[in-house]
Amino acid sequence: MQAKVVVVGSLNMDLIVRTPRLPVGGETLAGHGFSTAPGGKGANQAVAAARLGAQVAMIGCVGDDAYGAELRAGLIAEGIDCRAVMSATGVPTGIAAILVDDAGQNAIIIAAGGNAELTPARLTAHDALLQAADIVIAQLEVPLPTVEATLYRAHELGRTVILNPAPATGPLPAHWYGLVDYLIPNESEAALLTGIQVDSPQSALLAAQRLMERGARRVLITLGSQGVLYADSTRHLHLPVDPVVAVDTTAAGDTFVGGFAAALAAGQSLEAAIGLGQQAAALAVTRPGAQPSIPYRHELPA
Ligand code: ADP
Repeated sequence: MQAKVVVVGSLNMDLIVRTPRLPVGGETLAGHGFSTAPGGKGANQAVAAARLGAQVAMIGCVGDDAYGAELRAGLIAEGIDCRAVMSATGVPTGIAAILVDDAGQNAIIIAAGGNAELTPARLTAHDALLQAADIVIAQLEVPLPTVEATLYRAHELGRTVILNPAPATGPLPAHWYGLVDYLIPNESEAALLTGIQVDSPQSALLAAQRLMERGARRVLITLGSQGVLYADSTRHLHLPVDPVVAVDTTAAGDTFVGGFAAALAAGQSLEAAIGLGQQAAALAVTRPGAQPSIPYRHELPA
């Protein structure tokens, strides 16, 4: 029996322009090229969990345009249950306009579009999916009342609740911490949540301890090429990773979260689940794009 992972979150079309350098205000520059790729933290995490072995359903909202249809079709092609990917009328699908310069620096603007229409009422309409889930994953690219409703309901149902507090927006409501089983920020999100500068396993441990003082049960802080710091009330572990040369780190964190959830849902140990998430994320950073970079299980070592 495949375990069931439900992702409540965003779907975006990434619009990527490569440019010699980032333009300044009022400037027009000729770019090198343009491409589109499916993205959005929610959809990326759903794709990662599906490619890494879980049975996945997505709860989200697109607009009634061509991008929305394309994003939904892409998820269906991955075997993801998209009955709860709704289409809001009269709004565009969410997009991320991404500029990448020759030095690999980027500048990104997100227009939420349909993602902003994922209201708590739309979530409640698909409560049956939360009831049938083993693991529920949320991020912060959809309205916060909907994230809160997801955490409350999934916790009430006794599901394993994963919160990836991304993008970093500000402090989390204090009552959220106790609803979450695994809180998974990256370095900058952990820093924003705690006020501690996080750039090493040692500083990550301090941040994790701060988050546990607020009620977080288990904290995983992703540290880029330094791996992952895990902490709960009884122990802490630093799980390093063999660093690779990153080509495009988009979706690294999403790949980690999806892979971790898929392995956990399949009954693997915490260490094995972190290991799978890290192997998958390390491969994803060597390839361009968000969803196109996410590996399948057969691409990873046994
Ligand atoms: P985010 O994309 O959210 O900023 P991170 O940069 O922390 O997330 O990366 C998530 C995970 O991806 C890391 O914990 C690590 O496992 C893997 N990873 C990221 N960069 C590298 C790298 N250069 N080499 C190997 N693994 C990496």
